[in-house]
Amino acid sequence: MAEKKKQFAVIGLGRFGGSVCKELYRMGHQVLAIDNNDVKVNEFAPFSTHSVIANSTDEKALKSLGIRNFEYVIVAIGDNIQSSILTTLVLKEMGVENVWVKAQNNYHHKVLDKIGADRIIHPEQDMGIRIAQHITSEKIVDYIELSDDYSIVELLATKKIHNRSLIDLHIRAKYGCTILAIKREEDLNVSPLPEDVIREKDILIVIGHKLDLKRFEEEGM
Ligand code: ADP
Repeated sequence: MAEKKKQFAVIGLGRFGGSVCKELYRMGHQVLAIDNNDVKVNEFAPFSTHSVIANSTDEKALKSLGIRNFEYVIVAIGDNIQSSILTTLVLKEMGVENVWVKAQNNYHHKVLDKIGADRIIHPEQDMGIRIAQHITSEKIVDYIELSDDYSIVELLATKKIHNRSLIDLHIRAKYGCTILAIKREEDLNVSPLPEDVIREKDILIVIGHKLDLKRFEEEGM
């Protein structure tokens, strides 16, 4: 069955919101792009399903756009923290299920948390961590932090594990990490079987405690 396309609205079309909007649209999703700046709205017309000028702190304006019916609303208002907070509050009061908000600082984060933002994003910090992880290890292709303790890493299979099966490597028993998927060029083998064999150039997508992942990366491959 084809994957059901989701409906998204992106409020604030700066560098962060603009990238989210373009990528969602490129992936074939329905995206409503909102900004109170007409130049931005025109710029994003080719990269969204609809782009509209609206002030997102205006509850009536959001209602008339039918924002309640969107599964996800991303609030990507940068510097104007007050507008970001007010917009989030209005969206949650209207009953939008998933409101993801970009935070500027820890104070902003705390307030967003209190008023019910479903996910709070710190793009610069998150990207900084990923770049640092990537740059310090030739094996790490990508890195996603899930919490203070757990993360997901993409690791390039080394010679040591080429042509070995997952069962043969005992990754879970020895290192407490789980292989979520194996990427082989364009193919993604999700939930690989114990007898699946790792080949040269494969990328392993692994979830686990950060200390276990580090041990696997350093000793297991
Ligand atoms: P970034 O740091 O991601 O580039 P910016 O602060 O430059 O973020 O961009 C935020 C965008 O949000 C701007 O395009 C701005 O016009 C828009 N914006 C700010 N306040 C509102 C609001 N109340 N309603 C709608 N859009 C807004």
